[in-house]
Amino acid sequence: MARGKFLLKVAGCQMSFHDAEVLAGLLKQAGYTEAAAPAEADVIVFQTCCVRETAERKLYGQVNELRGLKREKPGLIVGLAGCLAQKDREKALQRCPHLDFVLGTQRLGDLPQILAALRDGCQGIVDVDEGANLEGLPIARAEGVRAYVNISYGCNNFCTYCIVPYVRGPEKSRPPAAVLAEVEEAAQAGYREVMLLGQNVNTYGRDLEEPTDFAALLRRVDKVPQLARIRYMTSHPRDFTEEMIRAVRETEKVCEHFHLPLQAGSNRILAAMNRGYTRERYLKLVAKVRSLVPGASITTDLIVGFPGETEEDFQATLDMVERVRFDAAYTFIFSPREGTRAATLPGQVTAAVKKERLARLNALQNRISRELNEALVGRVVEILVEGPSKNNPDRLAGRTRTNKLVHFTGPASLRGEQVKVRIKRAFTWTLDGDLVTPPN
Ligand code: SAM
Ligand code: SF4
Repeated sequence: MARGKFLLKVAGCQMSFHDAEVLAGLLKQAGYTEAAAPAEADVIVFQTCCVRETAERKLYGQVNELRGLKREKPGLIVGLAGCLAQKDREKALQRCPHLDFVLGTQRLGDLPQILAALRDGCQGIVDVDEGANLEGLPIARAEGVRAYVNISYGCNNFCTYCIVPYVRGPEKSRPPAAVLAEVEEAAQAGYREVMLLGQNVNTYGRDLEEPTDFAALLRRVDKVPQLARIRYMTSHPRDFTEEMIRAVRETEKVCEHFHLPLQAGSNRILAAMNRGYTRERYLKLVAKVRSLVPGASITTDLIVGFPGETEEDFQATLDMVERVRFDAAYTFIFSPREGTRAATLPGQVTAAVKKERLARLNALQNRISRELNEALVGRVVEILVEGPSKNNPDRLAGRTRTNKLVHFTGPASLRGEQVKVRIKRAFTWTLDGDLVTPPN
């Protein structure tokens, strides 16, 4: 039965983006179609993030902006889902009284019942219990060449700055058969690349009745026909074993890109973050990656201004950036998250110092990123074509196996194909090239 139109507003990481694909699947199954703009929607759901305070503030701002529309259209249903919903629960209704429902990260499957209850006159539904089964929910995947597939939910690590274990629950691996079935389905539907998702893919499988590990999973996913590439996100350096590096080296489709979130370069700060490795151990891991998978790219996440971080500690982060020469880094200002241990640690760093450190870190990383990209000029690389470039629809965009974004000119029919491109210009974040493979 046609029910009306829905709109999803998505913020956050790939995990959040993929949860939105599940929400879209549930809404479509319930008879809703997608709206192009808020004004034509009957249901608007915010799929949210709360890893940093800025994301949170922005989201509440956006939800509040809908007050006017809600007054004009009293039947409009507005809901909050995702990490922020899980964190704030009833408090979200206090902050935004016009919200109709708050849906937790483990309750996605309840969405159709919630909508039915709202249509029957219920108000202000908060559904955030933990421990639900997320298996078997419909997924309306975004168009493109890449499909996201969860391999585990939640996280057991409790890095002291991070809210994720509180809002996503304990780590729970999906059985390999469920992962493989989903990857096969995505490949058959035409997706060329799969991104395996977990907060720490490197501990995948330990909690299963028949324990397995991530390396074994990679080797199995590699055999799925029709698929061109396999990526995964995110890795914890503490749990990245040599066998996993060998699995990347020995498989055909697993890309030579290692995202290894370092977070900080000082051993004192790493210990205070509860990361479970030292800078020395991290450098050994990097050396192992480089010796076993030559030419692999290495990217990272870094936080500046963790409580107690001195200039010397920060210098240790800069030093690690110089030593490793990351291809790219996501850099963050420490954001105290209520309920985490780091939020109440002494020695909180002032906003001005954090900002200044971030600027210095970015300047260094940008220089290195650009140098590494410049070293690719003249080289021929293999690109999986994703489609038209976001900034210039006359050009195509695609990624190297090492995850570098390349723009070039070619026919739109190349989408989903792997082609050879000669790099002719390098920038900090992207590359420009010329198509080498003659299109068929
Ligand atoms: N599980 C992944 C991991 O361990 O890398 C990703 C978790 S988190 C969503 C992504 C990144 O956000 C982290 O790697 C960290 O650098 C950053 N982050 C998490 N909590 C933060 C906080 N309170 N303040 C600033 N950055 C934070
Ligand atoms: Fe957060 Fe650490 Fe878990 Fe990543 S590994 S989600 S940073 S607690």
